[in-house]
Amino acid sequence: MSEGRVGFYPGTFDPITLGHSDIIQRAAKLVDRLVIGVAINLNKGPMFSLDERVEILRSELDAMKGQLNGCVVEVRPFDNLTIHCAQEHGAGLIIRGLRAVADFEYEYQLVGMNRLLDAEIETIFIMANHEYQFIASRLVKEIAQLDGDISAFVSGRVAKRLYERVGRSEIKS
Ligand code: ADP
Repeated sequence: MSEGRVGFYPGTFDPITLGHSDIIQRAAKLVDRLVIGVAINLNKGPMFSLDERVEILRSELDAMKGQLNGCVVEVRPFDNLTIHCAQEHGAGLIIRGLRAVADFEYEYQLVGMNRLLDAEIETIFIMANHEYQFIASRLVKEIAQLDGDISAFVSGRVAKRLYERVGRSEIKS
């Protein structure tokens, strides 16, 4: 592969949490180019539109520039199959984050199916640092809606966007 190793990291990113950022930084050590695929995923009822999720992700990536190990990281929306999108970008690796056992069963099935669709593309799992392992976008949104403190789960920039979206003007600390 002339451009080196390419990884594809798909997700909903509604919005990006410190867990996602940790996975991105770890993946950046493994590949030369990392494509972050933002799934439209309307059936998950996202809080942020696709454009907003992409924009929030890009501004988080700007803030992490020095921590990306020289890896070229791009954000690309997609609405087709993960494996097809990985192929389109010339990715040899699909990167997924793994949290507790709860993620395992679903991911296990997904890898099996993807392998039947394209045996050349490997899926690798990365665990976030222990302090980020429990973070899920869905729970962060619930906490923000119920007036809780989300500062341990998302960056200050993302927290501001979430509080604005749920109609809170102040960040709790
Ligand atoms: P969520 O499952 O939180 O709604 P996404 O669909 O955006 O998030 O997830 C994209 C990928 O990032 C998935 O592989 C998911 O397992 C992973 N991920 C999300 N949060 C974490 C975390 N805290 N630690 C490790 N992986 C994570």
